[in-house]
Amino acid sequence: MDTKSALDKQSKQDVVELLYSNSFGSIMINFILASGIVFTFDNPLTAEAKVKWWLVFVVVLVARLADSLIWKKQLKNAVYNNEIAIYRFIIGLLATCILWAFYCVFIVNQVELLELTFIVVIVSSMAGGGATILAAHKTAAIAYSFIILVPFSVSLLLSDEKSMSVIGLLGLALFVVLFFSAKKSAHFTKQAILWKNENAILVNSMEEEVAIRTRKIYELSNIDPLTELYNRNAFLTDLVQRIKHDTDNNRSFALLFIDLDGFKKVNDSLGHEVGDSILRMSAQRLVAICPNNGFLCRWGGDEFLLVTDHAEEINTKQFAEKIIAKLSEEYVIDNTRIILSATIGISIFPEHSINGTFLIQWADMAMYSQKKSMPATAGFFDQRLYQKVQQERRLKESLFKAIDNNQLYLVFQPIVTSSAHDLVAFEALLRWNLEGQIISPVEFIPIAEQYGQINKIGIWVLQQACLIASTWPKSISVSVNVSVIQLQDAGFIHSVETALKEAGLEPERLHIEITESVFAQNIDSIIDRVKSLQQRGIAVYIDDFGTEYSSLCIIQDLSADVVKIDKAFIDKLETNGFAIVKAILNIARALNYRVIAEGVEHKSQADILKSLGVDCLQGYYFSKPIKQPKLSEYIASKLNRLKSTETRIQR
Ligand code: C2E
Ligand code: CA
Ligand code: CA
Repeated sequence: MDTKSALDKQSKQDVVELLYSNSFGSIMINFILASGIVFTFDNPLTAEAKVKWWLVFVVVLVARLADSLIWKKQLKNAVYNNEIAIYRFIIGLLATCILWAFYCVFIVNQVELLELTFIVVIVSSMAGGGATILAAHKTAAIAYSFIILVPFSVSLLLSDEKSMSVIGLLGLALFVVLFFSAKKSAHFTKQAILWKNENAILVNSMEEEVAIRTRKIYELSNIDPLTELYNRNAFLTDLVQRIKHDTDNNRSFALLFIDLDGFKKVNDSLGHEVGDSILRMSAQRLVAICPNNGFLCRWGGDEFLLVTDHAEEINTKQFAEKIIAKLSEEYVIDNTRIILSATIGISIFPEHSINGTFLIQWADMAMYSQKKSMPATAGFFDQRLYQKVQQERRLKESLFKAIDNNQLYLVFQPIVTSSAHDLVAFEALLRWNLEGQIISPVEFIPIAEQYGQINKIGIWVLQQACLIASTWPKSISVSVNVSVIQLQDAGFIHSVETALKEAGLEPERLHIEITESVFAQNIDSIIDRVKSLQQRGIAVYIDDFGTEYSSLCIIQDLSADVVKIDKAFIDKLETNGFAIVKAILNIARALNYRVIAEGVEHKSQADILKSLGVDCLQGYYFSKPIKQPKLSEYIASKLNRLKSTETRIQR
C-alpha cells in the first residue's frame, strides 16, 4: 500500500472512531431530552401523538445503540469497513434528527408558549452540540444542524404570530452561524487527523529505515561480502557459544581449517575476477556440504573454517576428504576449466584445546604441515606437530641473531683420493650452537631459506671458509655448500669474489657444492652462474647426486666439474647400490665429470669404490667433520704421512 492510500484509510478510520466515540453520550442525551419533552408538559391534544413519536424515537435510539455496540466489538478486531461504518452512523444520525424535525414541525402549532420555548432551547442546544460533536464529518455536522433547525425555523417563520416568526428568524440565523462554525471545526478536525496520521506514518517509516540500517550494519560486521558467508567476527562469536554449549553438554566438535591449493596461481594468472568467482563457488560448495549442526566462515583469502560434530576420528577424516573431493571438482568460468584442490587441518574440541583461538591456531598449524608434506589431504593436529612448530619458531627467531651472537661456526670434513687416501680438500659444514644445543644444518638451513636468512648466512660461510682455507697448504682446497636461493641471487658471484679477495685465496682452491634441487629452478640463470664460477677457476660440484631431480639432459647442459654420489647409494653398495654407483660412474665419465663418493663408513666400501674408479672419497671411515682447533693437527699428520710415504718411495 502506498503512503497516500494508507493515510486515507487511517483518516477514515479516525473519523469513524471520533463519530462513534460520542455516540453513547449523544444517544443518552437524546433519550433524556426526548423523554423530557414528551412527558413534562401535559397536553391532551398532543399526548397520544407525542408518545407514538417517543416510541418510534426510542426504537431508532435502540437501533443506534445496537449499531454502536456492534462497532465497538468490530473495533476490537480492528478489521472492519470504514465506509460502511460511516454510512451506518449517518443513517442513525439522520433518522434521529429527522424525527426531531418532524416533532418540531408537527407538534409546534399545538403547544403553549412555555413548551415551545422549552423545545426551542432544547433544539438549539442540540443543533449547537451536534455542530461540534460531529466535527469529524463536515456533511453530517451541517446536515444535522440543518435538519433540526431549518424546517422548524421555517415553520415558525410562517406562523401568524409575530413572536414566533421572530424565533423562526433567530433559528435561521443560528443555523447560518452553526453552518460556518461546523465548517470551521470540521476543517480543523480533518487537519488534526491528517497531521496525526502523517506523523504516525513518518515514525513508522523511520522505524523501517532504522531496521534496514541495523540489518546493514549487522551484515557489514558479520557477513563476508564476496562469499556471503560469515566473516571472522561472526564465526568467533558462534565459536564461543558452541564451546559453551558443548562444554555444558559434554560434547565434542571438530574445527576444520580449509585452504585452497593452487588458488594464488589462478588468481595471479587469470585475474582477480576469476579468483573471486572461484571463492564464491567454493563457498557455495561448502555451504552445500556443511551439516546442519555445523557452521562455516571465510577466514580470509582462500581460507575457510568449518565447525562440525566430532565423534570418531575416522568419520571426521572422511568428512574432510569429502570436502576436498568437492572442492577439487572442476570450476568452469567463462568456458575456462580450472582445477584446484584443498588441504585441511583439523583440531578437536576439547581434546586439543578448550579455547577457540587456539583451536583455530592448531587447525591452521595442522593444515600448514599437511600442505608441506601431503597437499590435497586432511590431517589432524597433534602434540608432535605443536613441538615441531614451536621449535621452528624458536629457531626462526634465534637464527636472525645467530651470526651476531657468534653461534655459527664451521667444521671441516676431509675429502681424500680413493687410490692413496691423500687429503685433497675439506668440505666446510655449518654448525649452530644455540645456547649449548647443537642444531643440525638439516634442520636450520630450510628455515634460513624460508625466512630470507640464507643469503646472509651463506655469505658468512663463504667468507669464513675462504679465510680458514687460506691458512692451509696450497694443495688443499675447500668445498662450500651453497643453497639454490643463494645461487639465484644476483649478487652471488660478487660475494664469492669478495670472499676470495679478502681471504687472498686462489679461486682454484674454492669449490662450490650445489644440490640437485637446482634443477627444479630456472635452469638458464643457474647455468649462467655455474659458467661464471668456472670462468673464474672455481670448480662446481653436484651434491647428493641421484636423490632428487636428476635429469641427464640438464646435467649435460650444466657441465659442472664433479658429482658427489649420495651416501644413500654408498650404504647399499654391497647390495643393489653397486649397480647404481656403476651406472652413475659411467654417465660421469661420458660427460667428463670427476666423481666423489660421500658417506663412506667402512674399509670395504672404500675398497669397492676404489676398484670402481671413483676419484675421491669422503666419510666417517676417514674422518668425521673436524672442529677448527684440531684441524691444523689433522692436516699436519696427513702431510707428515704423505712426506714419509714419499721418502719411502724415493728410497
Ligand atoms: P651434505 O652436503 O650432503 O653434507 C654431508 C653430510 O653428511 C654432512 O652432514 C656430514 O656430516 C654427513 N656425513 C659425511 N660423512 C658421513 C658418514 O660417513 N656417515 C654419516 N652418517 N654421515 C656423514 P651435516 O654436516 O649434518 O650436513 C647436512 C647437510 O646440511 C649437508 O649435506 C648440506 O646439504 C647442508 N649444509 C651443511 N652446511 C651447509 C652450508 O654451509 N650451507 C648450506 N647451504 N648447506 C649446508
Ligand atoms: Ca655437500
Ligand atoms: Ca651430499
